[in-house]
Amino acid sequence: MSNNSLPVIGHFIDGRRVTDGGSKQTVFNPATGKASAEVILAEQGTVQQVVAVAKNAAPSWADTAPLKRSRILFKFKELIERHHDDLAAAITREHGKVFSDAKGEVTRGLEVVEFACGIPNLLKTQFTDNIGGGIDNWNLRQPLGVTVGITPFNFPFMVPMWMAPVALATGNTFILKPSERDPSPSLMVAELLKEAGLPDGVFNVLQGDKTAVNTLLTHSDVRAVSFVGSTPIAEHIYATGTARRGSYPLRVQALGGAKNHLVVMPDANLDQAVDALMGAAYGSAGERCMAVSVAVAVGSIGDRLIDALIPRIKALKIKNGMEAAAEMGPVVTAAHKSRIENYIQQGVDAGAKLLVDGRGLVVPGHEEGFFLGGSLFDQVTPDMSIYSDEIFGPVLCVVHVPDLGAAIDLINSHEFGNGVALFTSDGNTAREFSRRIEVGMVGVNVPIPVPMAWHSFGGWKRSMFGDLHAYGEEGIRFYTRYKSIMQRWPASIEKGAEFAMPTSK
Ligand code: NAD
Repeated sequence: MSNNSLPVIGHFIDGRRVTDGGSKQTVFNPATGKASAEVILAEQGTVQQVVAVAKNAAPSWADTAPLKRSRILFKFKELIERHHDDLAAAITREHGKVFSDAKGEVTRGLEVVEFACGIPNLLKTQFTDNIGGGIDNWNLRQPLGVTVGITPFNFPFMVPMWMAPVALATGNTFILKPSERDPSPSLMVAELLKEAGLPDGVFNVLQGDKTAVNTLLTHSDVRAVSFVGSTPIAEHIYATGTARRGSYPLRVQALGGAKNHLVVMPDANLDQAVDALMGAAYGSAGERCMAVSVAVAVGSIGDRLIDALIPRIKALKIKNGMEAAAEMGPVVTAAHKSRIENYIQQGVDAGAKLLVDGRGLVVPGHEEGFFLGGSLFDQVTPDMSIYSDEIFGPVLCVVHVPDLGAAIDLINSHEFGNGVALFTSDGNTAREFSRRIEVGMVGVNVPIPVPMAWHSFGGWKRSMFGDLHAYGEEGIRFYTRYKSIMQRWPASIEKGAEFAMPTSK
């Protein structure tokens, strides 16, 4: 379907915007419910074109000194700071999250750029002098070539920044395939990188859907794919990508969905735990892979926790995210809103107690917007779909357990293992929990423990497929190949054939 009066959001290939070719999909402003633009969905020919461009740009970028790459990233950092508000406004317009949260998203992405600015130091390798026989041994971390990032709708700036700055700093070219639901921030990134001095073709944006993704995934010139999105697609990306045959196996990291628990111990500071749950469950309308969607009330604390949560959820300030004082905006699309409403009904039908019902909310002046109020379920059990599935909306489930051991068993039995939090005032409890829990990112009195840029991000179990987590040291490893070099010079070489290991001399 095409609407000629709407602006068209296209690709960014070889240093310029491209708006021809491909079918189109409507982009909405979730707060008004109105169409705001149309995004082009790449056909296979455009995918071939962008891979050829990125391949062509790869050798000279790989040969560019890390210090020079770093200087471009420093400039890019300055430009992000200068355009911080513009980027955040673009996020709010297409995603719906509140402006202050969108600004926070830009800051978290910026932090990875700042990390990547240190690339000359990060690429330093190990050297062993004189392993024997006049031989020295050292290693290199070399770029892979053409790399690809496929990203979800919920962080249209931050998640691309988990990937691109590290891929570029380590000397790779990069093709970003953003979500078709909020495609604009990626184009702004491309323009800023160009302004920062990045050579054309090194960073490209390809708009599209599964046709674009699957063509990239099976293209023999693509050397690595980083994916962030839902678990079924992450699994498909990992299985298809790693099954690719040829001289270069495809390197894949695929981060998937989540169901994050926050455990409240009887000795926790209740006010702090309630504040944490409000922000972590309802912030960004629950559309975060690190959102808390299950509160695990341990022992006697359950009733007090629920009594404190109910009035806070009913008082949430739900508005257009661009309005001052908004705490929660709309969800991303009408279809996603229906999906969440459907889950709420499934919870009711399964016998959970719906203490706050967020359905039917109307925001004055925004009657067509994709708004939902916060919902709270009590008496939730593991067999219910509202517990097992990722709803990805402002719905919090409360599960009651008798003690810490039962809380750990509950969480470890879930298929996902992205993030988890524990609220307690006891150090031993915190230590035991942190060591026994089978989850990739753990917060102790911290509700959303997203690691800083110089650590690495990733879940366990079906929240991540692949070995290396995103950004930080693991990101440097993901985007480079390890090479070991042994070297000696003629003065050290003895005459005649050698039949023993030279290092044994
Ligand atoms: P999604 O899986 O629908 O889409 C992600 C990307 O995959 C998009 O670019 C999309 O175009 C592409 N895609 C969609 N269907 C495809 C198909 N059939 N074949 C190939 N590609 C396809 O995810 P979403 O709805 O955009 O984002 C929300 C999901 O992302 C949630 O599950 C959330 O938990 C997850 N997420 C995870 C993390 C993490 O770090 N683990 C971070 C953010 C979001």
